[in-house]
Amino acid sequence: MAQQDNFDALIIGGGPAGISCASELKDSGLSSLILERKGQLGGQLSDVPNPLRNFAGGNYANGDELQQKLTELVEAMNLNHVLNADVTDIDLQNKTVTVASQKYSGKTIVIATGYRVNTLGLVNEKDFGLDVVYRTGQCLDHFAGQTVAVVGGGDSAVGDALELAQLCPRVYLIYRGEQCRARPDWMESAKRDSRITILLNTKVVSLLGGGNLTALKIANGQGVESELSVSRLAIKIGYAANTELFCGKVDMDDFGNIIIGKYCATSVPGVFAAGDIASPGYPRIATAVGQGVLAVAGIRTYLGQCL
Ligand SMILES: Cc1cc2nc3c(=O)[nH]c(=O)nc-3n(C[C@H](O)[C@H](O)[C@H](O)COP(=O)(O)OP(=O)(O)OC[C@H]3O[C@@H](n4cnc5c(N)ncnc54)[C@H](O)[C@@H]3O)c2cc1C
Repeated sequence: MAQQDNFDALIIGGGPAGISCASELKDSGLSSLILERKGQLGGQLSDVPNPLRNFAGGNYANGDELQQKLTELVEAMNLNHVLNADVTDIDLQNKTVTVASQKYSGKTIVIATGYRVNTLGLVNEKDFGLDVVYRTGQCLDHFAGQTVAVVGGGDSAVGDALELAQLCPRVYLIYRGEQCRARPDWMESAKRDSRITILLNTKVVSLLGGGNLTALKIANGQGVESELSVSRLAIKIGYAANTELFCGKVDMDDFGNIIIGKYCATSVPGVFAAGDIASPGYPRIATAVGQGVLAVAGIRTYLGQCL
């Protein structure tokens, strides 16, 4: 197995946290290597259809625009990175990671592997722009006045249904289970709200429309299919942390996020965590970018440098 070593930091994940960390390291005169499993940098940004309003680093119409800017930054700063590099094994004590037949070693490791949104897995799910979203916060104007559906049965789905009912004439809450798992008081409010129709034991089978969403094909518990006319859909079926690789190797919270202390340090000396998967945290671009930089303070301290 070939080995590449001597990096001051190996960064796992090329999203906003990983890129921010690498750029700060370079400015501090330290070397790093970003290992990114996808064929492009930017992490979840390419899944963000909404305008980015809460990131005080510019005004972006959607995640693709910021993804482009971050990629340009990586190129301009000549930051070392390998794409299609899925880290499948890791030794946190010895600071080595394995990608296919290649082994990399560093003096420190930064875990910046982010979240993945749970999707319905339908073929054309990504083809409807802002009509089909996973977060409604930045799309409320686009949803206002429309007939909408929210898929899911947890707090996030029911909370969105209640919020959207203030803006939309009809909200369908679609859940495949027999009973929603959301807070009982929110469920009561949803049941009482005449603008909300709750469809239990119901699955979304396909999305209809050419470019713009026009309807959902849904199936009830007996598998009987029908069409539901809606022009907006919010899919709220949860997120998962990309941290399976680190289970049992570093302290985590109950949600699979990696617990951090001062300067993003984890329970393993010389290993740092930043971005969505850091706990306590707040999964936002600004947090990821900030923690990426903060981790460099931890790396410098670990390497015996003055801050
Ligand atoms: C639909 C949607 C809308 C959003 N809207 C907003 C918004 O308006 N404002 C806002 O602030 N935030 C928003 N976010 C959240 C924001 O995108 C994230 O907080 C941010 O991308 C987190 O950055 P990160 O670097 O921590 O993780 P990510 O962006 O998830 O990047 C992590 C990277 O690590 C890679 N990776 C994972 N495991 C491995 C492995 N084993 N080996 C190699 N690489 C690996 C992944 O492929 C990924 O590229 C939104 C997210 C979504 C999905």
